[in-house]
Amino acid sequence: MTTTKETLYDALHQYFGFDSFKGRQESIIKSVLGGKDTFVIMPTGGGKSLCYQLPALMLEGTAIVISPLIALMKNQVDSIRGYSQSDDVAHFLNSSLTKSQMKQVRQDIMDNKTKLLFIAPETLTKEENIEFFKQVNLSFVAVDEAHCISEWGHDFRPEYRRIRVMLDSIGGDIPVVALTATATPKVQSDIVKNLHMTDHNTFISSFNRENLYYEVRPKLKKEQTLKQIVQIIKEIPDQSGIIYVQSRKSAAEIAGALKVNDIKAAPYHAGLDAKTRSKTQDDFLMEEVDVIVATIAFGMGIDKPDVRFVIHYDIPKSIENYYQETGRAGRDGLEGRCVAFYSYKDILRLEKFLRDKPVAEREMGMQLMQEVMSYSETTSCRRRFLLHYFGEQFDEDNCSQMCDNCRHPKERIDVKEDVVLAIKA
Ligand code: ADP
Ligand code: MG
Ligand code: ZN
Repeated sequence: MTTTKETLYDALHQYFGFDSFKGRQESIIKSVLGGKDTFVIMPTGGGKSLCYQLPALMLEGTAIVISPLIALMKNQVDSIRGYSQSDDVAHFLNSSLTKSQMKQVRQDIMDNKTKLLFIAPETLTKEENIEFFKQVNLSFVAVDEAHCISEWGHDFRPEYRRIRVMLDSIGGDIPVVALTATATPKVQSDIVKNLHMTDHNTFISSFNRENLYYEVRPKLKKEQTLKQIVQIIKEIPDQSGIIYVQSRKSAAEIAGALKVNDIKAAPYHAGLDAKTRSKTQDDFLMEEVDVIVATIAFGMGIDKPDVRFVIHYDIPKSIENYYQETGRAGRDGLEGRCVAFYSYKDILRLEKFLRDKPVAEREMGMQLMQEVMSYSETTSCRRRFLLHYFGEQFDEDNCSQMCDNCRHPKERIDVKEDVVLAIKA
């Protein structure tokens, strides 16, 4: 097939209605179209989905997309079906389907109608599915949220570690595309090793999210902090946002308090049954609910482009967590406001919680927390701090006042100048 610049842009326009690529999408897509193993490291909101969706639509055969959550698959299948106005172009295969629905999916694939098949890693490991895939013309396999492979990542999923073995038993040397927003080198090398990616192309994007405004506020008494949160929400009325908390109890409490203040809020945590959780998520996407008050169980990969704020009522466990969670704001490129409430008491509480853990885990937890403290207490550019944490150089002059410390600089004592003056005198 030809992949001249024209046809690539034509396809982008035809399938998605976009006129240009974001970031490094074009080179990534060319790599995938060329049948190379491809490793994509791009921050949340960077546009990773298009890097496999577009080539899947252009290439012969069916692409398998491995995705960790049923909600994520549904989200993506709905959006591709919407773009292409045909239902059989994208399907998912998971435990939520009936026998006859599964049969239909298989039929559509065999009839060459289906370009993208979303599956959970568990589904891939089923013997009957392996047998089925042996008969299918597969274009490539995309492993989305590939950090789930690594125990060092923030969402480890043991089944993800079996993907390579399954692909080998399907056979046929299918190209692999791995995608993640994880910036830590340890996780990256785990992914490459586990998926046996050799001679692959790697594309690492900058982790700077220039449209996110970072801010840290001291956490006061509960009522006062809640008052501030209500204020922040009311400054941008009827907009979507997420508030992260550590406990189920706080999630319920804060959602309740917001409702009293006429804010359409709902709690979301692992203690709620699957049905309630999935309804809450749908309500958020459909904007029946504006604000979700969640424990960390919410948000991975959810494509809600216009989340306008992410508030951390409780301090996150690590900078990596903070970056991922705030990354859910402003995926459409418009401003997203990220406010973290910080108190030393919260740190002490986390410390106490860590005390009961095995030594290794405790030490790791303390180290991660130390970084969160430094971030919260720094008087210099927060964006620079975050990017530096991921090994990226950043000049704070480029922050464009998009963090509290750059917008309202605190008095800084320049030690060097003082010394020079002292000598002169
Ligand atoms: P990621 O998976 O990297 O977090 P997504 O694939 O969910 O990001 O994309 C984030 C947003 O960017 C989506 O709303 C998507 O429609 C949009 N997007 C992706 N590519 C483009 C493009 N080339 N032009 C305009 N918008 C895009
Ligand atoms: Mg994604
Ligand atoms: Zn700054």
